[in-house]
Amino acid sequence: MSDALDVGSTAATADKGMYRQLLEEKIAEARLQIDRLTADIHEATLAAHDIPADDEHDPEGSTLTLERAREVALLDGTEKSLAELLEAEDRLEKGTYGTCENCGREIPRERLEVRPEARFCVQCASARRR
Ligand SMILES: [Zn+2]
Repeated sequence: MSDALDVGSTAATADKGMYRQLLEEKIAEARLQIDRLTADIHEATLAAHDIPADDEHDPEGSTLTLERAREVALLDGTEKSLAELLEAEDRLEKGTYGTCENCGREIPRERLEVRPEARFCVQCASARRR
C-alpha cells in the first residue's frame, strides 16, 4: 500500500524544481507589477489632492480617473494571482501539487507549464466556469 504512494511522490519530485522555478518567476513578476501599480496609484492620489476644486470639469481629469480605475482593477487581479501562486508553492512543499482538487486526477504537465498555479484539471476547470 505504501509503495503506491512512494511511486507517486517520486514522479512529482522529478518535476518539482521546474514547477518551483515557474512559480517563482511568476511570483516575482506579480510582486513587481503590484509595486509599480501601488506606486502609480499612490502618486495619482497625491496629485489629485493638488487639483483645485473648480477644475473638476477638466476633460483630462476624467481620463485620469478612468486610467486609475483600470489600474486599481489590474492591481486587484494581480494580488489575486499572487495569492494563487503562493498557494501553489505551498502545495508544492506539501507534495499535493499537480493534483486536481476536484476529481483527484493528475493535472497534465502541459497545463501546469502554462498555468503553474492551476488547482483543477482542464475538465473540472471548464465545468466550474459553466
Ligand atoms: Zn479534475
